[in-house]
Amino acid sequence: MKTAQGLPLPSLSRGRFLRSDASASEEAIYAYTDEALFEASGVRIAFTERAGGFSVSPFDSLNLGEYVDDDPAVVQGNRRKLLSALGFPNAQIISPKQVHGTDVAIWRYMNETNLVRQTAQQGADALVVEDAQCAALLVFADCMPVILVAPNGAFAVAHAGWRGAYGHVAVRALLALCEYSCCQPGECNAYIGPYIHAECFEVSNDLMQRFSIAFGEDCAPDARHVDLGRVVSSDLQHAGIVPERIADVDICTACNTSKFYSYRAQQGICGRHGALAVRQ
Ligand SMILES: [Zn+2]
Repeated sequence: MKTAQGLPLPSLSRGRFLRSDASASEEAIYAYTDEALFEASGVRIAFTERAGGFSVSPFDSLNLGEYVDDDPAVVQGNRRKLLSALGFPNAQIISPKQVHGTDVAIWRYMNETNLVRQTAQQGADALVVEDAQCAALLVFADCMPVILVAPNGAFAVAHAGWRGAYGHVAVRALLALCEYSCCQPGECNAYIGPYIHAECFEVSNDLMQRFSIAFGEDCAPDARHVDLGRVVSSDLQHAGIVPERIADVDICTACNTSKFYSYRAQQGICGRHGALAVRQ
């Protein structure tokens, strides 16, 4: 495990990924990543776009979610292509069964892979990883992806829809990450990927009020909308993450269906883009 003298401040940029031995006709994968983090710690993070995979409409094409009606073999092919493109062709991968809960699965060592995979299949909405070549993948179509990275290179990936956000799933992942990697929240980086922004996220007035009471009036721009980004980032700051260590890619999934999947904008029939983290 590489030791960093503190992580570089987080920054997200769009990267183009293609395995080194790709044929001339092979399509690249695009994902938002933090190159400085990769250089400093060996941790590769990726919020994937939907192009560059093998799935056909309406899942076209880099569908990483197995609980939609896409061909499971094609989904596995998409996942392997993503790992190869990111330079981790031999990594193990665990993608928990996401249940809009707040349970955090822990994957400390490569030799626990099968056991952790079984646990994660029973339902988990965050996964903390310590070992090298262990890739955590969670999948999304409007819900908020959150990746947290500790100074020692351990990381967590979390799934925060409104239920998870309300239940503090990102903070639960952060606290587990800090416990297992013996660090403070203030030393960690937090990355927020594409999710459905407040203007497109209409909710009942009752739900808006629940968020407003729990997280403050700032998280509800009006009577029928909730800003999940404000909810999760203020929750993380209350837990000790410093504001300059939170990077938000600032993309609304529902407004960008050519690049991302949106459950609301596509009437529930769509694939899932991914938030993936893995380290050397
Ligand atoms: Zn939008």
